[in-house]
Amino acid sequence: MKDTLKHRGMRNQLAQLLIEKGITDAKVLDAIRDIPRHLFMDSSFEGHAYQDKAFPIAANQTISQPYTVAFQTQLLELKPSMHVLEIGTGSGYQTAVLLKCRAKVFTIERQLELFKKTSLFFKKMGYRPKKTIFGDGYKGLPKDAPFDRIIVTAGAPEVPKALLSQLKVGGRLVIPVGFEEQIMTLYVRTTEKEFTKEEFGSFKFVPLLEDKN
Ligand code: SAH
Repeated sequence: MKDTLKHRGMRNQLAQLLIEKGITDAKVLDAIRDIPRHLFMDSSFEGHAYQDKAFPIAANQTISQPYTVAFQTQLLELKPSMHVLEIGTGSGYQTAVLLKCRAKVFTIERQLELFKKTSLFFKKMGYRPKKTIFGDGYKGLPKDAPFDRIIVTAGAPEVPKALLSQLKVGGRLVIPVGFEEQIMTLYVRTTEKEFTKEEFGSFKFVPLLEDKN
């Protein structure tokens, strides 16, 4: 598979749709225009890659819907060189969006099959996260903490305490919280001991599961 002008045209249309749905962050929209989402998916879904929909990937997981990726990334309010922890590497598409926004990305995946597949894909494509880890994101990544930003791309029944504790003061955690449906939730660490919490409507994610598989 390769990237063509036709794909680029479809990405421009997708970015336009995301603007209509309320995405305003220019660097996020640039990432959507730039990143060949069709290459992150099985070839059987290639024709659908630029619809604003989630699709199946390996290990019964999904590549998030472009609007969701854009919305979560916009909420992060990224600045260049920030250290960002991502829980749920999956297809690597969200990782690529973070990298395009010039973040230093540490990404964790609990499914071995996906971890292996996506790690290879990053190499092939020249995407360079700081670390690609096979592990349980519930625990965060104490060795590399604290982080400027943390993004969780699976539905968490509750907010893992470890993630809150690994945020810098001034840092932001964006996490979908809930069982059947999730409420997109933003935590900002305002002081060593205090956090503010803001909620942003409901989304649907595959579940955040404990341990490795
Ligand atoms: N950002 C990804 C979303 C993939 S779906 C993309 O756009 O492709 C969510 C991913 O989170 C799945 O790959 C799932 O295996 C992973 N996941 C679920 N629980 C996890 C955990 N505790 N630690 C790390 N990854 C987890």
